[in-house]
Amino acid sequence: MKKRTRITHAGRDPDKQHGIVNPPVWRASTVLFPDVASLRAATDHPFDGVYYGRFGTPTQFALGDAICALEEAAGCVLVGSGLAAVTSGLLASLSGGDHLLMVDSVYGPTRKFCDGTLKRLGVDTEYYDPCIGEGIRDLLRDNTRAIFMESPGSLTFEVQDVPAICRVAAERDITTLLDNTWATPLHFRGLEHGVDIEIHAATKYISGHADTMLGLLLVNASKLDNLRSTVASLGHCAGSDDCYLALRGLRTLAVRLEQHERTARELIEWLRQQPEVSRILYPADSECPGHEIWKRDFDGATGLFGVVFEACDPDRFNRMIDGLTLFGLGYSWGGYESLVLPTEPARSRTATEWTAAGPCLRIHAGLEDPADLIEDLAAGFARLRGQTD
Ligand SMILES: *Cc1c(COP(=O)(O)O)cnc(C)c1O
Repeated sequence: MKKRTRITHAGRDPDKQHGIVNPPVWRASTVLFPDVASLRAATDHPFDGVYYGRFGTPTQFALGDAICALEEAAGCVLVGSGLAAVTSGLLASLSGGDHLLMVDSVYGPTRKFCDGTLKRLGVDTEYYDPCIGEGIRDLLRDNTRAIFMESPGSLTFEVQDVPAICRVAAERDITTLLDNTWATPLHFRGLEHGVDIEIHAATKYISGHADTMLGLLLVNASKLDNLRSTVASLGHCAGSDDCYLALRGLRTLAVRLEQHERTARELIEWLRQQPEVSRILYPADSECPGHEIWKRDFDGATGLFGVVFEACDPDRFNRMIDGLTLFGLGYSWGGYESLVLPTEPARSRTATEWTAAGPCLRIHAGLEDPADLIEDLAAGFARLRGQTD
């Protein structure tokens, strides 16, 4: 079956629920057992069915099944946020004394976790150039246990050669983790490219409506038991209402992404013509580091990109942003609405240098009419030029 068909049909069984199209929201903590023998049997196999709320209900199972069907993963582990998915994937893969290779363009809170909690636990994190590819081999040590990738990188959008890095890691049985939030399972399937643990902030495009916090991890059979038991021991779980919303969002992911990408490309085309714009950071753009890899490995682009400006007056730059009416100013992305965020990539780099002529802006192209969005941006550029207040 093609992806769009799977996304429509996976994870639901109307015949088992009175013909109703969507699975219900099961809210549960306690699950009752008919006798001691069945309680003991369930306790021995907590992942094999409904056992206790923290281990999931048919609502969580439906979302997990639907996501697994998109990537043919052995298992999907759900947690309360994208960051919880990142940290539990790392904790499942590392112990004190281990060496972790972490991409320099990683999501800020992931970096903070490595430099704080993982360091305290005795894990040595070394940051590497997102464009390193097979050259990662030179950084391996005897105690390297995990390589973490994020492609494209947060804020700067470099596309990594995930297959090449996974090939090097496989030679030494090193666990590979990929934060694949930008592409979603529709546009890049990490497991097929050799990734052991694929991570998504389902908060973003999968949920798609800026109303849910949710994280998920996709794994092959060899990593499933360890990951599940680590997540269970940490006490992570995902709420049933959030899983329902994510499953509902998933059904329209393909059509939403298509529009997000189309609008992003229209905005980029307009932005490129403005003399104040120095560079565009977008994997589908030929200037983007790793663009050739994106063409080789990805099935599409999405609505999130970066804009590097020429040096400009900081007050006018802020006025440009403050006066926007359709673009909201705030964290996260992946909802139906357009967003901007001023970013400072240079502040969260240690292995590579980030140089830009002027300030950076991250833009999320929402589902509004692109003509209206461009009008909003044009008024912003007039404020940047000091032509209006
Ligand atoms: C947003 C984001 C996360 C964290 O997700 P939350 O659900 O906000 O915790 C992790 N990785 C990337 C790449 C993200 O963009």
